[in-house]
Amino acid sequence: TELSKIRNFSIVAHIDHGKSTLADRLIQMTGTVAERDMQEQLLDSMDIERERGITIKANTVRIEYPAQDGQTYVLNLIDTPGHVDFGYEVSRSMRAVEGSLLVVDASQGVEAQTLANVYQAIEADHEIVPVLNKVDLPAAEPDRVREQIEDVIGIEAHDAVEISAKTGLGIPDVLEAIVQRLPAPKGDRDAPLKAMLVDSYYDAYLGVVVIIRVIDGVIRKGDRIRMMRTGGTYGIDRLGVFKPAMQNIAELGPGEIGFLTASIKQVRDTRVGDTITHEKKQCATPLPGFKPAQPVVFCGLFPVDSSEFEDLRTAIEKLALNDASFSYEMETSAALGFGFRCGFLGLLHLEVIRDRIEREYDIELITTAPSVVYHIYTRDGAMSELHNPADMPDPATIDHIEEPRIKATILVPDEYLGDVLKLCQDRRGIQLDLTYAGSRAMAVYDLPLNEVVFDFYDRLKSVTKGYASFDYQLEGYRQDTLVKMQVLVNDEPVDALSMMVHRDRAETRGRAMCEKLKELIPRHMFKIPIQAAIGGRVIARETLSAMRKDVTAKCYGGDATRKRKLLDKQKAGKKKMRQFGKVEIPQQAFISALKMD
Ligand code: GDP
Ligand code: MG
Repeated sequence: TELSKIRNFSIVAHIDHGKSTLADRLIQMTGTVAERDMQEQLLDSMDIERERGITIKANTVRIEYPAQDGQTYVLNLIDTPGHVDFGYEVSRSMRAVEGSLLVVDASQGVEAQTLANVYQAIEADHEIVPVLNKVDLPAAEPDRVREQIEDVIGIEAHDAVEISAKTGLGIPDVLEAIVQRLPAPKGDRDAPLKAMLVDSYYDAYLGVVVIIRVIDGVIRKGDRIRMMRTGGTYGIDRLGVFKPAMQNIAELGPGEIGFLTASIKQVRDTRVGDTITHEKKQCATPLPGFKPAQPVVFCGLFPVDSSEFEDLRTAIEKLALNDASFSYEMETSAALGFGFRCGFLGLLHLEVIRDRIEREYDIELITTAPSVVYHIYTRDGAMSELHNPADMPDPATIDHIEEPRIKATILVPDEYLGDVLKLCQDRRGIQLDLTYAGSRAMAVYDLPLNEVVFDFYDRLKSVTKGYASFDYQLEGYRQDTLVKMQVLVNDEPVDALSMMVHRDRAETRGRAMCEKLKELIPRHMFKIPIQAAIGGRVIARETLSAMRKDVTAKCYGGDATRKRKLLDKQKAGKKKMRQFGKVEIPQQAFISALKMD
């Protein structure tokens, strides 16, 4: 296709503002998919994505559009992941296109993810077309939102397109705006091949499918290619485009977006942001800014039923084949047995993987407290990464500890601002900025990531009745007074409950943990001390008093069946217990204790 007839774009929006619905309408109105094959949310393919309305991997679709100028254009839409956890992938796929549609719900206005996503589009030098969606709703205020876009984001919005992705109103205007207002890609057909690896996924029939954007040169079926960062070389088996079903194509030239397969064994061999060139005739320099995705949140995953450990291993290995950003290694815990220490891009990523293991592989899991990656500096000047509080070196050897910090942007209606500021303060936040736009406030905070991974988002939703929106980016590491807190039950440390905390918050956390465990652990025949400690020093303590537990005592007389039933029930209950020294701790206790605030 000629460069002047190509438009590449992405859609940026806050969640629920209508990105997927608009994509569906664009596909439908251009006849890209036959009416009878039309189903909702065409681009959100994975079940979990559909259910939660989030996109995890980049998806693309090629749309052919006969414009009003009489020419037919090829429009390539890349649907980028819409969540902060996948920020790096978002920024890469943004660089594969020249423009963005900025979709804002005209009844809601600009939200935190609107800002985060549009800033990435601006950073990628995109031309931006604002689109006001949901104008069919009585609560829609397109004029107010237009002004808000200009004030808060600082881009021109007087010619924003007003649409209803639901009814189809205004969709032809969006198509025309894409052709007229977004720039055509640039590229040199005669130069050596230079293509960006936008994303990849594993397909059971085709193996690894790689989504690419050609910058210069031409790629053809049968070509030998090289991944410049990972060094791998492959022969192309199949080249094609998504419409959105796969369709083979003989070649892809500059400006075009499509896919290739090349007998690549695992997704791990393909790195988002890598540069693809020809094995023999290579391009001079790879694309700038490549960095492999780094897990930032770690936690232990253990099977509730220890006999399922091998099944868990299989599940994790399979999932990892399709997700290069997910890491794992075996871990043993005295409390929980055999499991895996896994690394994730963020909490949502963690949840998605955990859900898939439970649902697709039918393995019930215990998840230990999520922990961020600390930088431990020892007295000899060396730095090591700490992924698991259990691996904390002897405090006597430590010079100082650094923790990851984030820059969080929170948008909230004025009336809830006080509660939001208090929440951020409680979580050791430092206010960076506070501004107002209409009846909404925008608070920008510097926060420790470890205070956010627990339950910050849930708390924020609850104190603002769901009206706050939140987004963050990692900013770097900073030193603070961090300690490892241990929990001892009957004088034995329970490794799964160890956590890193700020020194000033240790007592509160420790006390809450002990109180909670006191309620969760059933009484035994003896007294059980429950303690929280830093090093050898106890900072909180509760005592679970002894009780003689004889459940059958209540059923006097000869009702033998009833007695047996009760005993059976007790036995079944035992299976969900973990023997810990002399103490039995129910599974549920770990889960509940780790969900503390
Ligand atoms: P996404 O999270 O940005 O992909 O948003 P979706 O496309 O999934 O839309 C979120 C919700 O808004 C869905 O329930 C849609 O049916 C609804 N929606 C999308 N566009 C419109 C619209 O123009 N008008 C109305 N009334 N609802 C819409
Ligand atoms: Mg969506």
